[in-house]
Amino acid sequence: MLFLLQFRADEKCGIIRAEVVKIQQIFDAGCNPALYQMQGKTYDFPDMTQELCPHCKADYLKKHGFYERYLITVGFEGEITIRRYCCHECRKTVSLLPSFCHPMRTYGILAIFGVLKEFYVKMSAACLAVARFLAATGVEITRQLLRHYRRRIEQNSNSLAMTVTGIYALKEPLITTTTNMRRKVRQLLSFIKCPQDDSLKIFKQTRTTYLTPQPI
Ligand SMILES: [Zn+2]
Repeated sequence: MLFLLQFRADEKCGIIRAEVVKIQQIFDAGCNPALYQMQGKTYDFPDMTQELCPHCKADYLKKHGFYERYLITVGFEGEITIRRYCCHECRKTVSLLPSFCHPMRTYGILAIFGVLKEFYVKMSAACLAVARFLAATGVEITRQLLRHYRRRIEQNSNSLAMTVTGIYALKEPLITTTTNMRRKVRQLLSFIKCPQDDSLKIFKQTRTTYLTPQPI
């Protein structure tokens, strides 16, 4: 419950109609949100019925219907269908999130990453970063929300950098030992060229995301 309350306090815009979900699984959607939305329940969702419940490991997951989730991202705004599984043993659920979504956020990966990049990489002031991002993409993100995203990614920057260093087998650590937080995050974001693909890789390895310090 705490997890959901935290989420609702974080997001200033948009409401996700969701129940308390303990685990979210991200998968490669292989298409853009509009195409995904168009297919609705007929989308070819990954079959998880051969996988043990990640909560209790005592039973295989069973299909457990769908729910609608609101998504705002670059080039898309609307409700999308989320496939859900459950465990008949412990009664807990697993939701399958397409890779353009960020867990527990109304805004998608490209929107979150884009506005952060505007702030850190293009070195715009916060008010300018949100204005420029809005002008370039049509996606409105408040300064307050950007400040929240900044706080989260700064908290995560060291662990994210270590993960990315590992994923790409870099010879040198991605982030140097600078104490300048803004420079640190700039180095990290500048390296990431495919935000959605890299986000999926980071999630598969650590079960964390750009903005989620703890495994989800
Ligand atoms: Zn279970």
